[in-house]
Formats: sequence, structure tokens, C-alpha cells
Amino acid sequence: MKAVYPGSFDPVTYGHLDIIERVSKKVEHLIVAVLNNPSKKSVFSLEERIQLLKEVTKEFPNVEIDYFSGLLTDYATKRNCTTMIRGLRAVSDFEYEMQMALVNKKINNELETLFMVSSSKYAYLSSSIVKEVAMFGGNISVLFLKLLNKL
Ligand code: ADP
Repeated sequence: MKAVYPGSFDPVTYGHLDIIERVSKKVEHLIVAVLNNPSKKSVFSLEERIQLLKEVTKEFPNVEIDYFSGLLTDYATKRNCTTMIRGLRAVSDFEYEMQMALVNKKINNELETLFMVSSSKYAYLSSSIVKEVAMFGGNISVLFLKLLNKL
């Protein structure tokens, strides 16, 4: 099975990496697809987000890093992929994730979204919390994989 794991990855965290590693053991090929959305302000550029992801996933031979713009369903079709992976941390993720999964399925009925539940040790972790801690000068090395001089 081939799967797409889409997201902003601004920046990639241990939480994302945990999902990538666990899913990569269950599928033949995993495409981690970085959202390129110029109207959604990101701290890291698309190139930086891709570079970080490539670096932290280089040990996983069946993981590919790519990017997409526009509709995720169009990207999945282009990549010949009908399985989408999303991570679930807490109940708070559920409503949005459920809505996205249903909308994507409405657009393309072939498309299935599979949810991987976060490991408990990363359930508190998000890209935004990493950026927030960094903004106030906190030590983010336990949260975030590789420092670029932006944070
Ligand atoms: P998006 O803007 O699409 O939500 P993110 O990069 O924030 O992009 O997240 C991508 C996916 O990874 C989402 O499904 C999100 O729920 C999941 N995710 C993020 N952080 C974690 C974590 N700590 N544990 C498990 N899943 C996570």
C-alpha cells in the first residue's frame, strides 16, 4: 500500500517523525507531502521544511518527501494514491480532522483517511508550541529536531 501523509510541517517535530516512522513500517511507500500555501504564513519556507524533513527521514528507505499546492485530493490523484494518513493527538484534533476526511471523501470517494494515534509521549507536541517556546527563548531541543537559525 502507498500512502500520503500531508501537513504544514512548520517545522517537523518529534511528533510528526514518530507518525512517519510507525506508518512507514505498515506501508510499502510513504509520501510525506508538505503543503505549499503562500496565503498561509509559515515561519519556515517550503524549501526549509522539505530540507528538514529529508534530513530527519533519511534512514527510512520507503519514505519520500514531496510538496503540493492546491487541493490535496488532486495531489493524491496525481500520485495515484488513495490512502491518506493523519495524526490524532487529542479530542481537540478530532473535529477538524473528521471534517477534512469527510470533505476529501466527498471530493474523491476512493480516498480513505487513516488516523494514527499519537504516542503518549508526543501527544502534547505541535509545531505551534515549538515556535511559541522558541519565541520566548525556551530550550526547544527536546521538542524540535534540528535547529535552523530562524528559531
Ligand atoms: P496541518 O496544518 O495540516 O495540521 P501539521 O504539520 O500541523 O499540518 O500536522 C500534520 C499532521 O500531523 C496532522 O494530522 C497532525 O494532527 C499530525 N500531528 C502533528 N503533531 C503531532 C503529534 N505530536 N503527534 C501525532 N500527530 C501529530
